[in-house]
Amino acid sequence: MNIKIGNGYDIHRLVVDRPLILGGVKIDHELGLLGHSDADVLTHAIMDAMLGALSLGDIGHYFPPTDSQWAGADSLVLLGKVHQLIQERGWQINNIDSVVVAERPKLKPHLQNMRTQLSSVLELEPEQVSIKATTNEKLGPIGREEGIAAHAVVLLASSIPTCIY
Ligand code: MG
Repeated sequence: MNIKIGNGYDIHRLVVDRPLILGGVKIDHELGLLGHSDADVLTHAIMDAMLGALSLGDIGHYFPPTDSQWAGADSLVLLGKVHQLIQERGWQINNIDSVVVAERPKLKPHLQNMRTQLSSVLELEPEQVSIKATTNEKLGPIGREEGIAAHAVVLLASSIPTCIY
C-alpha cells in the first residue's frame, strides 16, 4: 500500500455581516469570515492538505477568487470536487487531523457536527476526521479576534502499486 501525507493552512478575516461557517457548520456569532466563497477556513485547510499530498497545487488554482462561479460557494461542494480529484487518481483518505485557531466563539459544542459534515462529503467514518479547537491565548491577530485560522494534515492511501497522477 502506498501512502502520502499533505499539510494545509488557511486564515480568513473576521468581519461583521458575514456568517461564520466552519467545517460546513453555521455557527451563531456576531462576526463571520470574509472571503470569495463561504470562507470556511477549516474546509479550505483540509482541501489544501488533500491536494498537497498529491502535489496538485492549492485550492486557489482550482477555484480562483477571480472566477465569479465560486462567489459565495459552499465549501463542502468544493471539498466534494477535491475528493473526486484524488479518487480519480486512485487515492483515498486514511485520516485527517486538524485544528481551528479561534479566540471566540467556543467551538467545542460544534466539533462533532463538523466531523459529521466533513466525513459525510468525504465518505469517511467521523472517527477518521479529527477536529480540534484552540485559542491563540489572546496573542496576535487571531488573539485580537481579527481572524480565524486552521491547520490540517491528511494521510492518503492507495492500493495501486504505481499510482498515476
Ligand atoms: Mg480560504
